[in-house]
Amino acid sequence: MAELSTLDATKTAEGLASKTFTSVEVTQCYLDRIAQLNPRLNAYLTVSPETALSEAKAADERLAKGERGALLGVPIAVKDILMTLGIRTTAASKMLEHYQPSFDATAIKKLRAAGAVILGKTNLDEFAHGASTENSAYGTTKNPWDTTRVPGGSSGGSAAAVAADLCAAAIGTDTGGSIRHPAAFCGIVGLKPSYGRISRSGLLSMTSSTDVIGPMTKTVADAASLLFTMAGEDSLDQTTAPGTLSPEEFSAALSKKDLSGVTIGVPRSFINDGLLPGVAERFEASLEALKSIGATIVDIELPHAKYGIAAYYVITPSEISSNLARFDGIRYGHQSKTAKSLFDVYAQSRGEGLGPEVKRRIMLGTYALSAGYYDAYYKTAQKVRTVIVKELDAALTTCDLIATPTAPHVAFQIGKQSDDPLKMYLEDVFMSPASLAGLPAISVPMDFVASEDGVEMPTGLQLIGRRFDEAMVLGTAHLFEQHSDRIDRRPNLS
Ligand code: GLN
Repeated sequence: MAELSTLDATKTAEGLASKTFTSVEVTQCYLDRIAQLNPRLNAYLTVSPETALSEAKAADERLAKGERGALLGVPIAVKDILMTLGIRTTAASKMLEHYQPSFDATAIKKLRAAGAVILGKTNLDEFAHGASTENSAYGTTKNPWDTTRVPGGSSGGSAAAVAADLCAAAIGTDTGGSIRHPAAFCGIVGLKPSYGRISRSGLLSMTSSTDVIGPMTKTVADAASLLFTMAGEDSLDQTTAPGTLSPEEFSAALSKKDLSGVTIGVPRSFINDGLLPGVAERFEASLEALKSIGATIVDIELPHAKYGIAAYYVITPSEISSNLARFDGIRYGHQSKTAKSLFDVYAQSRGEGLGPEVKRRIMLGTYALSAGYYDAYYKTAQKVRTVIVKELDAALTTCDLIATPTAPHVAFQIGKQSDDPLKMYLEDVFMSPASLAGLPAISVPMDFVASEDGVEMPTGLQLIGRRFDEAMVLGTAHLFEQHSDRIDRRPNLS
């Protein structure tokens, strides 16, 4: 039943509800496909067949009793930076190679309660530091559309798993673009919710002030149902927003017939530099598609957005240097076997356990936060952040959404940028402003575009909304998805 793996989450739930197949059958189908393709793609770091099949069995029992749910019995993949009770969680680091969490992240708890079946844990850049998944201590994930290319990052394993039909949907995390970027590179939907929409409890902290968990899916409707399941206030995360999402608000958003009354701002002077010509062309065609379904497209100015990346790459290492201090070989993580003194325990455990990009960020952050440099770097970056937040909020009083391409180009060759950290940091150029401001943003597939060397690869359209206005973001993306002239293709992995 190989075709079961091509179903999105909503269709899988429908098939389960109508008893066309069972959760055990669809789960087994994914496990077989993973066994066949994961050695080539390296999308999963850990596959958990026993727990998946027993969760599927439990879901089948609930279904047999007449229970129904958007995720009941639906097999999903989870980025290996979220705590999963009973399933190893490595953050793609040697530091946590054998780590077994003693609890589920709040988002995972909610997914399990809704009956989702967890197939396993997906690859990422170590501790989510990166934009290509090449920083994983366990090897790069391959882009299913062209296995010589990166899937984007840092949630590259989840994106590749969705694109290659190795799960019905996946969970990623986005600190400065890590859901949206791989979603664009792999031709799937990726939603970065508003900061505080989903509890971060049980998410291994990277940049606590911008980290969010979100869905990576085949369709916008699937993203909406996963968001819905994971969202809500949590006493374990004081930054979660009070109140829950209203189901009525969401079904209204997803059943809109056109975009009349919706104004979309395009910050042309921010995005026009350095776009791959094909991406620029697809972006214009996407704006036309949005216009044809009733949206009003207006030019807006975001003069400070270009400083987002600079501010982000001071703030992010600073928070990382603090958050990763706990991995010292004593409190958490790998402990060096050869250390002879207390100092050596720290130095060697961190030296052996952490990869080059993680070390680079810890050093940059420690420097930026140190006495004498704090005002010049960290404080200045926070001031720039405030300017960007105000600028985006002001722009979003004149329009409902801001549109940009998700990334300026298509997926690049493995190894092409890996020795150039600055170039890698520039991948986030269009995504970091929304992260700094905590705004919801989606990447939804535009059409395919030829890379510089002529290979057709997916691209993404980013739509940024007002804080907590995921309904507008999802509703618009849902209509765009149906009206864009995107060709329905699948990667050829036979
Ligand atoms: N590429 C960004 C970085 O390396 C984003 C990472 C993320 O969102 N986790 O920091």
